[in-house]
Amino acid sequence: TEALSTRDPEIFDAVHRELGRQRDEIELIASENIVSRAVLEAQGSVLTNKYAEGYPGKRYYGGCEFVDVAENLAIDRAKQLFGCDFVNVQPNSGSQANQGVFQALLTPGDTILGMSLDAGGHLTHGARPNQSGKWFNAVQYGVRKQDSLLDYDQVEALANEHKPKAIIAGGSAIPRIIDFARLRQIADQVGAYLIVDMAHFAGLVAAGLYPSPFPHAHVATTTTHKTLRGPRGGMILTNDADIAKKVNSAIFPGIQGGPLMHVIAGKAVAFGEALRPDFKDYAKQVVLNAQALADELMKGGLDIVTGGTDTHLMLVDLRPKGVKGNQTEDALGRAHITCNKNGIPFDPEKPTVTSGVRLGSPAGTTRGFGEEEFRQIGRWIVEVVDGLAANGPEGNAEVEARVAGEVKALCARFPLYDGL
Ligand code: PLP
Repeated sequence: TEALSTRDPEIFDAVHRELGRQRDEIELIASENIVSRAVLEAQGSVLTNKYAEGYPGKRYYGGCEFVDVAENLAIDRAKQLFGCDFVNVQPNSGSQANQGVFQALLTPGDTILGMSLDAGGHLTHGARPNQSGKWFNAVQYGVRKQDSLLDYDQVEALANEHKPKAIIAGGSAIPRIIDFARLRQIADQVGAYLIVDMAHFAGLVAAGLYPSPFPHAHVATTTTHKTLRGPRGGMILTNDADIAKKVNSAIFPGIQGGPLMHVIAGKAVAFGEALRPDFKDYAKQVVLNAQALADELMKGGLDIVTGGTDTHLMLVDLRPKGVKGNQTEDALGRAHITCNKNGIPFDPEKPTVTSGVRLGSPAGTTRGFGEEEFRQIGRWIVEVVDGLAANGPEGNAEVEARVAGEVKALCARFPLYDGL
């Protein structure tokens, strides 16, 4: 019964200061969002105490009647949200969702074809240091040199040459809409599964603002914590009963034990929120805000990879200003704007340096920012970057301090977790 504040003041302090950071800084990390109080409450609930290996109605432990309610609601709401027949809500993360699908459909040594990390793909799509790159013969596709758009011709050529068992679409830094029909056509030519990892844009799919991976994908994976605005976790979706069966066995007992029932309850709450009409308005605003930010940055002399965005994220090419991604991440951090350095396609710099930053609108939009606020954020970013361009890596301390103050004032107008 002892409260965290007295039971463990050090952790309480870390949590409290993190809340302060989230309140006082502008969050532009494209893969982050701000969950509702209701999601927090479900995730912080007594469901964390419960072992529930297996699936609703078929558990290996007693006393699962109430966690079954939570998991069934999560499943039913996800099915409704994405218009599909089978959902597994148990993956502990997006990486484990992908791992589960690989375990279901592939055997070590099989060839997979995924987008390379430096072109915007994800580690789990066959990158060398990842299990997907070690246990499979991973072939990687990228984007076209002339316009940084996904190179479907290269996907087709590599598929015909290497005959992969699976083609993986999706990634972490793709600002434009992916042509799933074209990828399915290529997959069919070589008898490959098409796996769509919609982690980044799942919320936009749920809102009807991004084409659904279905009916093209054999199976789709996602995280639940990005545009979808749920707790940190993963999920697998399919319309194929046979694949669904294999996926269920792959997640449990294949790669996981007891599912995180408190997180699954949080997923159910978030999916319920995403089914409400106001989530569509939110998702629309996410895209409008990203486009307003991209436009303002281009006005300020920065390049945006592919010339803009159709989604919630953009890749800023900093080379016109002669500054690096790592310096920019640091300088913006000093101005209380949080983002991450990110390689741009064909980046001449090392991944620890980079020529770009990745920016996204989901968290700011949840907070209530509209296009006006995102344009202001764009002008602040340009000022900070210009400070770096003029003064080197130390930047312009005066500008950064002034922007930090203005950021704080903006954040105060859009309070976060009031009363928490
Ligand atoms: N897939 C994509 C496309 C992602 O962007 C991410 C997150 O970065 C993941 C998978 C992995 O998700 P997690 O960090 O939950 O393992």
